[in-house]
Amino acid sequence: MNQAMDLIKTKEQIGIMAEGGRRLGVVLKELRREVRPGITTKELDRIARLRIEAGGDKPAFLHYRPAGAAKAYPYTLCSSVNDVVVHGQPSGYVLREGDIVKLDLGLRHEGLYLDAAITVFVGPASAFRKEVRTLLAATEDALYAGIAVAKPGNRLGDIGYAIERVARKAGVSVADGLTGHGIGESLHEEPSVFNYGEKGTGMILKEGMVLAIEPMFTLGGGEIVQLRDESYGTEDRSWAAHFEHTIAITAKGPKILTAA
Ligand code: MG
Repeated sequence: MNQAMDLIKTKEQIGIMAEGGRRLGVVLKELRREVRPGITTKELDRIARLRIEAGGDKPAFLHYRPAGAAKAYPYTLCSSVNDVVVHGQPSGYVLREGDIVKLDLGLRHEGLYLDAAITVFVGPASAFRKEVRTLLAATEDALYAGIAVAKPGNRLGDIGYAIERVARKAGVSVADGLTGHGIGESLHEEPSVFNYGEKGTGMILKEGMVLAIEPMFTLGGGEIVQLRDESYGTEDRSWAAHFEHTIAITAKGPKILTAA
């Protein structure tokens, strides 16, 4: 198969992905409402699986084995709490007021993959330290800043530049080594979408490309370590946030596929 050709999706494929993305957005929105002190991350996982399967779709992460991983992923949801950045495994951990939890979720709809993530406050946002609220706001702002420049003729580095710029302004760090990605017939496709970069560098963006853009920021340094369950946490245990959408690059500009 021609890798370069694969980067371009047909209008029909993008139409299918828009429907899959809408469904994913709805499930994530429902999960956000379920987050509260006292619920376990395993219960959130159960709800996610039920909601995805009720729509006739398949959880994308369940049984997925990323390159280099020792074994297949056993859950529908990635639930990463506080200093865990991504790939946190649902467990009996009971969410407490004052935690933040990253909910990263993917599904396969009519053979095509969608991926999205949000970071949620457990308990009222107003009860959190200002720096934590800044972290979440900056990470979400960076997602939209990255999306805004995902248009034909721009370059991949423009996305990374836009994302990194928001982190710098807010005084937070970009998590090292974790990137967004192309998506479609596979969950992870070329290219890697870095959360830092230089304007005007990298691959030229074209109509028909579909990308999962996903800034991951931390309150401390950007160094990350792999933990025992294969999740990634910050080396200095500082808290991290993550927001992600799957987007299509159209002639009219970026189209968010995973909005509810
Ligand atoms: Mg992703």
